[in-house]
Amino acid sequence: METFVELLKTHNLKVTQQRLEILRYVESHLTHPTADEIFQSLTKKYPSLSKTTIYNTLETLTNAGIIQRLTICPTEHRYDFNHDMHHHFICKQCGKIFDIHFTCPNVETIEKDILKDGHRIEEVHGYFRGKCKDCLNKEGVKNG
Ligand SMILES: [Zn+2]
Ligand SMILES: [Zn+2]
Repeated sequence: METFVELLKTHNLKVTQQRLEILRYVESHLTHPTADEIFQSLTKKYPSLSKTTIYNTLETLTNAGIIQRLTICPTEHRYDFNHDMHHHFICKQCGKIFDIHFTCPNVETIEKDILKDGHRIEEVHGYFRGKCKDCLNKEGVKNG
Protein backbone atom coordinates (compact mmCIF):
# COMPACT_ATOMS: atom_id res chain seq x y z
CA MET A 1 0.00 0.00 0.00
CA GLU A 2 2.94 2.34 0.82
CA THR A 3 4.22 2.21 -2.74
CA PHE A 4 0.79 3.04 -4.12
CA VAL A 5 0.64 6.10 -1.87
CA GLU A 6 4.00 7.16 -3.27
CA LEU A 7 2.87 6.41 -6.80
CA LEU A 8 -0.18 8.65 -6.47
CA LYS A 9 1.90 11.42 -4.91
CA THR A 10 4.48 11.28 -7.71
CA HIS A 11 1.67 11.85 -10.17
CA ASN A 12 0.26 14.73 -8.13
CA LEU A 13 -2.89 12.80 -7.36
CA LYS A 14 -4.74 13.02 -4.11
CA VAL A 15 -4.39 9.82 -2.12
CA THR A 16 -7.85 8.37 -1.56
CA GLN A 17 -9.00 5.01 -0.30
CA GLN A 18 -10.77 4.26 -3.60
CA ARG A 19 -7.70 5.02 -5.66
CA LEU A 20 -5.54 2.81 -3.47
CA GLU A 21 -8.02 -0.06 -3.60
CA ILE A 22 -8.41 0.10 -7.36
CA LEU A 23 -4.66 0.32 -7.85
CA ARG A 24 -4.14 -2.66 -5.62
CA TYR A 25 -6.77 -4.64 -7.49
CA VAL A 26 -5.38 -3.91 -10.93
CA GLU A 27 -1.83 -4.54 -9.79
CA SER A 28 -2.65 -7.93 -8.28
CA HIS A 29 -4.99 -9.10 -11.07
CA LEU A 30 -2.92 -9.41 -14.18
CA THR A 31 -5.88 -10.88 -16.04
CA HIS A 32 -6.73 -7.45 -17.49
CA PRO A 33 -10.02 -6.94 -15.63
CA THR A 34 -12.92 -4.85 -16.88
CA ALA A 35 -14.31 -1.92 -14.90
CA ASP A 36 -17.24 -4.14 -14.07
CA GLU A 37 -15.07 -6.91 -12.65
CA ILE A 38 -13.25 -4.39 -10.49
CA PHE A 39 -16.56 -3.01 -9.31
CA GLN A 40 -18.01 -6.45 -8.52
CA SER A 41 -15.00 -7.35 -6.46
CA LEU A 42 -14.57 -4.09 -4.56
CA THR A 43 -18.25 -3.57 -3.85
CA LYS A 44 -18.18 -6.61 -1.57
CA LYS A 45 -15.69 -4.86 0.66
CA TYR A 46 -16.96 -1.32 0.09
CA PRO A 47 -20.73 -1.46 -0.47
CA SER A 48 -20.96 2.33 -0.75
CA LEU A 49 -18.59 2.40 -3.72
CA SER A 50 -20.45 3.41 -6.87
CA LYS A 51 -19.77 2.34 -10.41
CA THR A 52 -19.30 5.96 -11.37
CA THR A 53 -16.50 6.28 -8.83
CA ILE A 54 -14.83 3.21 -10.32
CA TYR A 55 -15.07 4.62 -13.83
CA ASN A 56 -13.85 8.05 -12.77
CA THR A 57 -10.96 6.62 -10.80
CA LEU A 58 -9.92 4.36 -13.68
CA GLU A 59 -10.06 7.39 -15.95
CA THR A 60 -7.83 9.42 -13.61
CA LEU A 61 -5.31 6.61 -13.18
CA THR A 62 -5.23 5.98 -16.92
CA ASN A 63 -4.68 9.63 -17.72
CA ALA A 64 -1.84 9.71 -15.22
CA GLY A 65 -0.29 6.73 -16.98
CA ILE A 66 -0.29 4.56 -13.85
CA ILE A 67 -2.57 2.03 -15.46
CA GLN A 68 -3.39 1.48 -19.11
CA ARG A 69 -6.68 1.02 -20.82
CA LEU A 70 -6.77 -1.73 -23.40
CA THR A 71 -9.14 -1.39 -26.31
CA ILE A 72 -8.24 -4.83 -27.61
CA CYS A 73 -11.69 -6.15 -26.78
CA PRO A 74 -14.28 -4.45 -29.01
CA THR A 75 -17.12 -4.66 -26.50
CA GLU A 76 -15.43 -3.50 -23.30
CA HIS A 77 -12.32 -1.81 -22.01
CA ARG A 78 -9.82 -3.77 -20.01
CA TYR A 79 -7.36 -2.37 -17.53
CA ASP A 80 -3.76 -3.23 -16.91
CA PHE A 81 -1.18 -2.02 -14.43
CA ASN A 82 1.53 -0.20 -16.32
CA HIS A 83 4.51 -2.27 -15.19
CA ASP A 84 6.48 -2.03 -18.38
CA MET A 85 5.75 -1.72 -22.04
CA HIS A 86 4.18 -4.90 -23.31
CA HIS A 87 1.76 -6.04 -25.94
CA HIS A 88 -1.37 -8.14 -25.87
CA PHE A 89 -2.71 -11.23 -27.51
CA ILE A 90 -6.44 -11.90 -27.28
CA CYS A 91 -8.07 -15.26 -27.90
CA LYS A 92 -11.07 -14.70 -30.14
CA GLN A 93 -12.67 -17.83 -28.76
CA CYS A 94 -12.52 -17.44 -24.98
CA GLY A 95 -11.60 -13.77 -24.73
CA LYS A 96 -8.58 -14.38 -22.54
CA ILE A 97 -5.82 -11.78 -22.86
CA PHE A 98 -2.17 -12.73 -22.65
CA ASP A 99 0.82 -10.46 -22.15
CA ILE A 100 3.48 -10.47 -24.83
CA HIS A 101 6.87 -9.15 -23.87
CA PHE A 102 8.95 -8.17 -26.82
CA THR A 103 10.38 -5.04 -28.27
CA CYS A 104 8.87 -4.26 -31.60
CA PRO A 105 11.78 -4.03 -34.06
CA ASN A 106 9.99 -1.23 -35.88
CA VAL A 107 9.73 1.03 -32.86
CA GLU A 108 13.29 2.23 -33.12
CA THR A 109 12.86 3.20 -36.75
CA ILE A 110 9.52 4.83 -36.12
CA GLU A 111 10.88 6.64 -33.09
CA LYS A 112 13.81 8.04 -35.04
CA ASP A 113 11.45 9.29 -37.68
CA ILE A 114 9.08 10.80 -35.15
CA LEU A 115 11.86 12.37 -33.07
CA LYS A 116 13.04 14.11 -36.19
CA ASP A 117 9.75 15.99 -36.18
CA GLY A 118 10.06 16.75 -32.49
CA HIS A 119 7.43 14.29 -31.30
CA ARG A 120 7.85 11.80 -28.51
CA ILE A 121 6.34 8.33 -28.23
CA GLU A 122 5.13 7.51 -24.76
CA GLU A 123 2.99 4.47 -25.38
CA VAL A 124 3.11 1.60 -27.79
CA HIS A 125 0.19 -0.81 -27.98
CA GLY A 126 0.40 -3.97 -29.98
CA TYR A 127 -2.75 -6.03 -30.29
CA PHE A 128 -2.69 -9.54 -31.66
CA ARG A 129 -5.72 -11.75 -32.16
CA GLY A 130 -5.94 -15.49 -32.58
CA LYS A 131 -6.75 -18.65 -30.69
CA CYS A 132 -5.10 -19.60 -27.43
CA LYS A 133 -3.46 -22.92 -26.69
CA ASP A 134 -6.36 -24.13 -24.54
CA CYS A 135 -8.96 -23.41 -27.17
CA LEU A 136 -6.83 -25.05 -29.87
CA ASN A 137 -6.43 -28.11 -27.68
CA LYS A 138 -10.17 -28.32 -27.08
CA GLU A 139 -10.77 -28.06 -30.82
CA GLY A 140 -8.20 -30.76 -31.44
CA VAL A 141 -10.09 -33.12 -29.14
CA LYS A 142 -13.35 -32.33 -30.89
CA ASN A 143 -11.96 -32.83 -34.39
CA GLY A 144 -9.93 -35.88 -33.89
ZN1 LIG B 1 -8.95 -19.28 -25.78
ZN1 LIG C 1 -0.95 -6.72 -20.00
